Amino acid sequence: MMGKAVPLLETIRKIDAEIPTPFHLYSEKGLRERARALQGAFSWNTGYKEYFAVKATPNPVILNILRQEGCGVDCSSLTELMMAERVGFSGDEIMFSSNETPAEEFEYARRLNAIINLDDITHIGFLEKHGGLPEKICLRFNPGGDFIIGNAVMGRPGDAKFGFTRAQLTEGIRRLMEKGVKRFGLHSFLASNMTDNDYYPTMARLLFRTAVELHRELGAEFFMLNLSGGVGIPYRPEETPVDIALVGERVRGAFEEIVAPAGIGKDVRVVTELGRYVSGPCGWLITRAVHEKNTHKHYIGVDACAANLMRPAMYGAYHHITVLGKENAPCDHRYDVVGSLCENNDKFAVDRMLPEIEMGDYLAIHDTGAHGFSMGYNYNGRLRSAEVLLREDGSFRQIRRAETPADYFATLDFDRIEP
Ligand SMILES: *Cc1c(COP(=O)(O)O)cnc(C)c1O
Repeated sequence: MMGKAVPLLETIRKIDAEIPTPFHLYSEKGLRERARALQGAFSWNTGYKEYFAVKATPNPVILNILRQEGCGVDCSSLTELMMAERVGFSGDEIMFSSNETPAEEFEYARRLNAIINLDDITHIGFLEKHGGLPEKICLRFNPGGDFIIGNAVMGRPGDAKFGFTRAQLTEGIRRLMEKGVKRFGLHSFLASNMTDNDYYPTMARLLFRTAVELHRELGAEFFMLNLSGGVGIPYRPEETPVDIALVGERVRGAFEEIVAPAGIGKDVRVVTELGRYVSGPCGWLITRAVHEKNTHKHYIGVDACAANLMRPAMYGAYHHITVLGKENAPCDHRYDVVGSLCENNDKFAVDRMLPEIEMGDYLAIHDTGAHGFSMGYNYNGRLRSAEVLLREDGSFRQIRRAETPADYFATLDFDRIEP
């Protein structure tokens, strides 16, 4: 088993001298390698593109690295579209996979000529009014019920707010064809953080069969089959990573069996909208031990808190922790590693066996490259941290400064506090 990649203590010391902890650190090398491995796995499909889910790591420097690797972006809000535009993405390089979409966001996405992924049948009329219908459009499919692989329930699409029902797909595409839409995409996202090599292939079969049915029913031409996000990463060191090459091969098998013989459209592209898979393992939240407390439990207080990384507090998610410089020391101390929020769920780890921690030690909290910084918030008036890029040559660069109190107060007017 491969250990988890961890930044070197001496690198962190150098960064901390300029950019104080806490900060999120991202590996450029890791990002490029993962983007390439993913693209390699799907290179059998000539139109393949990864539309990186911006919400995972919304930073222009990160998006630009992925752009250099040939990725597009998947946006779902106005500011994500604006960021994509500023980085230089346009047209078919942008998917707009939103839901409960405000009118101005459809209008903005249409101006960028992004590929619109409709979430609901009522959005056909709504988009027609706000931005207008494009020549080609994608529809999000929600098959309902449970999503099962083998005999395990992997997700519950029936409880998910997203997408068209199967019957609505037929009706929606029929209406869109009447209104002059020429080509269609089909999209589905049925479960999150799936480390099962059969997640994508199983979903791909469902998506591919549905597209073939719709082609036969309506004569609809397809340009895109969008497998969306959801491929997972091993947050725990004992978990097995997804074999992305094998996943790509299995999706290819499904494509050749179901899509290729059916002739549902010229040069149908298979695309993905992965976030976590691409950037998750390429980031760490670097924080320092600042307090030690012995009461009913043994606590280590660090200078980061759930406002910098919400997943443990929100989902009870496991994030591996390395005490830098003590990689080979025995894990013979049982700690709760906690932040400073006035919330008892502000714990990065509970009953975690770690080497003895001294005040000032640096802790690397792993796998924060996706849905880490971006889920941050300002509860308790806590400020968002900096983001730092570790370049391929080993040098570093701040790619987002830390918030200051002035940022926190920027939307308030203290000169007018009378009601
Ligand atoms: C969040 C999201 C993704 C990315 O999900 P990951 O779990 O990070 O792969 C992709 N597509 C859509 C529409 C999403 O909402």
